Amino acid sequence: MHTPSLTDRTIDAYTDVTGQDRLNRLQSLADDLDDVRILHVNSTATGGGVAELLRSIVPVCNDLEIDTDWLVMDATDEFFEVTKAMHNALQGDGPSLTDDMQATYRTVTERNALELEGHESEYDLVVIHDPQPLGMLDHMAETMPNIPIVWRCHIDLTDPIDEYLAFVSEYASRVDHAIFSRSAYVGDLEVPEASIIYPSIDPITKKNRLLGPETVTDEHDRLDPLSFEDPLVTQISRFDPWKDQFGTLEAYRRASEDVPELQLALVGGMAGDDPEGLELYEQVAEEAVDDPNVHVLTDQPDTTVNVLQRDSDVIVQKSLREGFGLVVAEALWKRTPVVGSNVGGIPLQIEDGKTGYLVDPDDAVGAGDRVRDLLEDDDCRTRFGDNARERVRERFLLPRQLEELLDVIADELNRNR
Ligand code: UDP
Repeated sequence: MHTPSLTDRTIDAYTDVTGQDRLNRLQSLADDLDDVRILHVNSTATGGGVAELLRSIVPVCNDLEIDTDWLVMDATDEFFEVTKAMHNALQGDGPSLTDDMQATYRTVTERNALELEGHESEYDLVVIHDPQPLGMLDHMAETMPNIPIVWRCHIDLTDPIDEYLAFVSEYASRVDHAIFSRSAYVGDLEVPEASIIYPSIDPITKKNRLLGPETVTDEHDRLDPLSFEDPLVTQISRFDPWKDQFGTLEAYRRASEDVPELQLALVGGMAGDDPEGLELYEQVAEEAVDDPNVHVLTDQPDTTVNVLQRDSDVIVQKSLREGFGLVVAEALWKRTPVVGSNVGGIPLQIEDGKTGYLVDPDDAVGAGDRVRDLLEDDDCRTRFGDNARERVRERFLLPRQLEELLDVIADELNRNR
């Protein structure tokens, strides 16, 4: 396993956005954990929401003097093929789970777990993120028998394929506590204890903070021929079938019937643990090649993502499944209304008719109509944007999520007063 490089954070940097009261509560929870060491384990250091969350949570915990490490699994392409199939199947679509797939999963997770051997006395609690590292439990049960394990499941489990759910359930039943993003995801999973914690965005990062005018101008120039003078709708997502970039293209085409100068930016990256990304990117780029108003952009830096979320007229998130969808909160925080599918974590974030619109996940035409409605009404976009900012401030900023996570950790370690 390897440790990603991280940028330091200080908890004081959050005072302006979340207020001193919340930070005081956080500090008080942290004070009860100042002698413990926590380990987070996941399967990628970059790309996707989990890496995004850990890049903030880990340094902030350390600033709060909770000794916190993050280790990323080392794995083969074959393993990531299996875990991507598992991820897809847990969201409702996938091939049969073969013995070979299970063997690959067990071999790689065991190899990673073996690396913890000899370090077991260093940790007081381990947080495992998503199904990829769960197989490590087989070995950890022997080497770390008394250390509480928390499983943080970030994916949409409302309609899983049974055999995959059974496979994951067997592991999940052995953790001490599981955390989900929505109560609907617990479903038939048998876990000893479960909590619901909404994910959050980090308001002080390059991706989410307010940018100076010079940076904005530089970014606008860099993105030329995309123009911020003409209407712009954007979706930012990994290239993944569940993110439905083709549906977004259809929605854009529908909206362009009434707003002919409309542009679409489809911005995506490839997560390190996602073997499907490149293929889908090529298909999307091919589909868009004849339309000069469609811009397919890959691997954009956080500042560019920030500018696109801030300066697009509307953000679209046309997912078919969505564990939470940090991109929705990121856009709402920047006062940009979002048209999103009514699936997974998206309806937790979009208040239909107040901060954006919810559409049926199969309804690309309806999404296009909602985009057009917003483009044609400047006042509505401003009103929705103001509502959106406050909604995110109340519910989806990092200090709130951290407080809830520390509460679970304190409970597991019997530190709650
Ligand atoms: N992201 C990014 N660049 C991209 C695509 C995505 O920085 O080209 C970020 C995005 O801003 C968000 C995260 O990756 O912070 C995606 O998280 P989300 O929960 O929306 O989806 P996931 O990828 O975890 O399914």
